[in-house]
Amino acid sequence: MRTFMQMIPGGVPAVVGLVLAGLFVSLVPIRPQLWLYPLVRQTVALKIDYQTKDMLTKETPHFVIRYRESDVDMVDMVAAAAEAAYEPVTVTLTYAPKGKALILIYPDRKAMKAAYGWAGDSNAMGFYWGGVIQILSPKAWMKNSQSVEEFITTGPLAHEYTHLVLDHLARGNYSRWFTEGLAQYVEYKANGYEWVTAENRLTGKLYSMDELDGDFDGLSNQALAYRQSLAAVRYIAEVHGEAKLSQVLVYLKAGEKINKAIEKSLGMDYATYEIMLNLWASDNMKQYSKIAN
Ligand SMILES: [Zn+2]
Repeated sequence: MRTFMQMIPGGVPAVVGLVLAGLFVSLVPIRPQLWLYPLVRQTVALKIDYQTKDMLTKETPHFVIRYRESDVDMVDMVAAAAEAAYEPVTVTLTYAPKGKALILIYPDRKAMKAAYGWAGDSNAMGFYWGGVIQILSPKAWMKNSQSVEEFITTGPLAHEYTHLVLDHLARGNYSRWFTEGLAQYVEYKANGYEWVTAENRLTGKLYSMDELDGDFDGLSNQALAYRQSLAAVRYIAEVHGEAKLSQVLVYLKAGEKINKAIEKSLGMDYATYEIMLNLWASDNMKQYSKIAN
C-alpha cells in the first residue's frame, strides 16, 4: 500500500478522482487494486513523460529513451542493452506489455537520487518506479564505458525491465522479494550475472519467508535478502520447471497472493516450499569463496 499511495500524483484529490472513475467500472468482478493500479501507473508514467519531454529522445522498437546532452555518446549503448533485454524478459514472463517503455538516463547519482520517489541504496545503477525505468549513465559507474557487451551483461536493463513487465502483468499484485527474485533470475539466465558476496552465503542463517514477505526493504542484510529471493525463484524454475513459474504468474495476474500462487502452482504448502528451496539452494547455488572471487 505504501508504494501504491506514493505513486499517486496529486495525493488525495487524485485518489478521489480515480475512485469516482472506478465506480463506472465497479461491476468488474476483480479485486479493486487490479483495475485501479494500472490507471494509477499510467497516470504517473504520463506525468513523467510530460515532465521529461524537453530532454533528448531516442526511440527503439520497444523503448523510448530520454537523456541529456552529456549522454549523447551513451544512448546507443543503452538502446542496444534495452533491446537485448526485451526477448529474455518477455519470453520468461510469457508477457509483453503494450506500447513502448520509457527509460530515463541520469548523468550522475545525485540527479538520480533527486528523482521520483527514489530512496534506494546509493550503489544502485537504476530503479523502476511509476511505470518508468530510471538508470544511471554508464559513464558514472563503468570502468570502460564503451563496452556494449559489458553494459548488456552487468548493466541494469534486464533487471529493471523485468520489474516493469511483471508490474504490467500482475498489476501491482506481487511481493517485493518476488519481483527482485524474478529480475535476478532473468539476469542470471540471460547474462550469467549473479550478486554473490561474503555476506550472502546460503549455507548460514537465513531469513524466513515470513520475513521476506514482510518488510523486505527493512531487512538489515540486503545482499542476503536479494540472494534468497533469487533462490526462491530459481528453485521453482529449475526444480519444478519454467512452466510452473509461468503458472505462478498466471495466479498473480488473477489476484492470488504470492504464497497461494506458489502453493497452487507447485501443489505444495508454503512451509514445505520454504524447507525444500533452502535445501536446494545450499546445495546447488554458487557460494562466495575467497579463491573464486
Ligand atoms: Zn530490483
